[in-house]
Amino acid sequence: MGIDIDAIVDELTLDEKIRCIHGAVDPAGKATGYLPGVDHIDIPPLALVDGPLGVRANGERATAFPASVALAASWRPPLARRFGRALARETAAYGQDVILAPGVNIVRTPQGGRNFEYYSEDPHLTKRTAIATIDGIESEDVAATVKHYVANNQETNRYDVSAEVSERALREIYLPAFRAAVEEADVTSVMTAYNRVNGIPMSDHEYLVSDVLKDEWGFDGFVVSDWWGTRSTVEAARAGLDVEMPGIRVEEFVPDEVDVEDLPEAMPPLPDVPALFGDPLREAVESGELDEAVIDDKVKRVLRSMASIGCFDEQPEGELDTPTHRELARDIATEGAVLLQNNGTLPLGDVDSLAVIGPNADTAKLGGGGSSEVSPFVQTSPVEGLAVRDVNVTFERGVPPVTEPRLFSNAADEDVPETSIDDAVDAAAEADCAVVVVQDDAAEFEDREDLTLPGQQDDLVEAVAEVADRTIVVLRTSGPVTMPWLDLVDAVLETWYAGQADGEALADLLFGDAEPGGRLPITFGCAADDYPTSDDAAFPGVDDEARYDEGIFVGYRYFDEHGIIPKFPFGHGLSYTSFAYGQPSMTRSEDGLAVAVPVENTGDRHGQAVVQVYAQKTAAPISTPERELVGFEVTSLDEGEQTSLTVSVNRSDFEYYDEGSGWKVATGKNSLFVGRSSRDIVAKVNVSIAEGR
Ligand code: BGC
Repeated sequence: MGIDIDAIVDELTLDEKIRCIHGAVDPAGKATGYLPGVDHIDIPPLALVDGPLGVRANGERATAFPASVALAASWRPPLARRFGRALARETAAYGQDVILAPGVNIVRTPQGGRNFEYYSEDPHLTKRTAIATIDGIESEDVAATVKHYVANNQETNRYDVSAEVSERALREIYLPAFRAAVEEADVTSVMTAYNRVNGIPMSDHEYLVSDVLKDEWGFDGFVVSDWWGTRSTVEAARAGLDVEMPGIRVEEFVPDEVDVEDLPEAMPPLPDVPALFGDPLREAVESGELDEAVIDDKVKRVLRSMASIGCFDEQPEGELDTPTHRELARDIATEGAVLLQNNGTLPLGDVDSLAVIGPNADTAKLGGGGSSEVSPFVQTSPVEGLAVRDVNVTFERGVPPVTEPRLFSNAADEDVPETSIDDAVDAAAEADCAVVVVQDDAAEFEDREDLTLPGQQDDLVEAVAEVADRTIVVLRTSGPVTMPWLDLVDAVLETWYAGQADGEALADLLFGDAEPGGRLPITFGCAADDYPTSDDAAFPGVDDEARYDEGIFVGYRYFDEHGIIPKFPFGHGLSYTSFAYGQPSMTRSEDGLAVAVPVENTGDRHGQAVVQVYAQKTAAPISTPERELVGFEVTSLDEGEQTSLTVSVNRSDFEYYDEGSGWKVATGKNSLFVGRSSRDIVAKVNVSIAEGR
């Protein structure tokens, strides 16, 4: 509708303008961040609420979807779009206008505590998943907030650490998802990160916030700080930060059920004044230090964003916990599950009895700890999901439960149950098959110490595998873990943090009602030392600086560059059937190429193939990765069925960033690879990229 934003701003006093750009207490107590609006001029409040795994309205329940990494592992943008819509509808159901999602930081280090909230180590997969999620959210008149801008790749020392990163790595690896969110999905809001980049706090980073995000990419929404992440008044205002959150003290912020004393030590360094954009900003304008036009621009951005999601009109009603949302939570869990290893044991054929073993196998793995926690209406644990099948299920923990890192829902102090590996071994020996469910404990505020499974879970798997007829390991992890028992077990299924439908989805997968649709969005190396972040200078940093000396060689790009063999490569994931790929053919188009890949289901059941296309910019005059994902398509085929999948590759996919002169196309002879994963290449084609356009 036609709102005259300029006219509204002209009517506001300085105090009222400032009310529009710094947080306040939400009288309803549900929002994570709240702008109170201005009554007399009919500016409604704006309520922001946490995601990205579901809606975390204080004290309320919502659908607990699988973790973002599982969504990305599905390699299915249409599924991400459905997820975005559902997330927005649940956001609206609580009267919230903005969802603080998606998180699109690149998985740089496998220990990253929030990797489960992010998508991938690869910019292309991250970007495609992000665009679809944002489109879905914003199609429901709810604003998305892409976060955390930028290079927020670790939790350790996250408020102070400076990512010392080259312009090329920023441009090619860390910025593309944010750029796509702005240029391709027209995202409404961007959240700045806590960390510094090349010495400057992100809230104050004029180059990245004003020059790149706003001027170069044309971002016209509002930039919001991370919570208590605003570092200054005048510098931040000039740098382009528009809204300070939460603008209130921590005691006013935390929900009633959380005791401030119990908050992690790693809470943000709270500013002396609760609002750097409150009184101090007014004083800066009054003293002439800051031009009021700077404030006006911020207010206009907020109001324009509000108009774009219809805040001045009737609000969307939304809906919660619908059958469709429950089904979607289950679909993402199955489509995102990655079958890492299988000797034919899966899907389960003739089994009369299952021993379900694992310290936490009687609870659903909802998510990791921190601001993304969601309390669902319903949930199914692996034990429950399997027990409703036509099979005899026994359950043994084997080892003490792994403590769930929960920040917002204080778990009651339950007695630690007695456990024994021997009992688990006995149960495994008596059953037709053992299903061992193991997990890690990633959370916001801290990184994983190493890649071993917490507690004695590795011993448990090994002991069970020694006696069981068949052993299936279900990994409920945020990323790679060392698997010292890998050769002893029959199948390994990575289900990440599968959310409320954990157990139902697991039963679907194990019994073959669904096939694991996922492919790895992150490389599973053999050890933390295999990654570019293996020394302290790189991660977590020394003297508050983390050196990104690996440059653009992040994830599989690093493994390829250094000839390191991963345990399971990026893009890997088995199907319950088999596929044959034919010779790809290429057609040129105005913008690039269409690569057609014939695919045939050569197995004996329905299944899904994910065709992946990687580029090698051989013609570039500077060092470039051996392969970089530039496109992918998914197909579902019945036994014996064949099809041809077309993957579009653009001229811009052959661009590299030159530190001196910016983006350049690698003109000349380059290569494209078609593969089942980054290391299972089925065809290579040469491509000549012409000079000019
Ligand atoms: C997190 C954000 C989150 C915010 C509000 C911060 O600690 O980094 O992702 O949206 O808190 O809960």
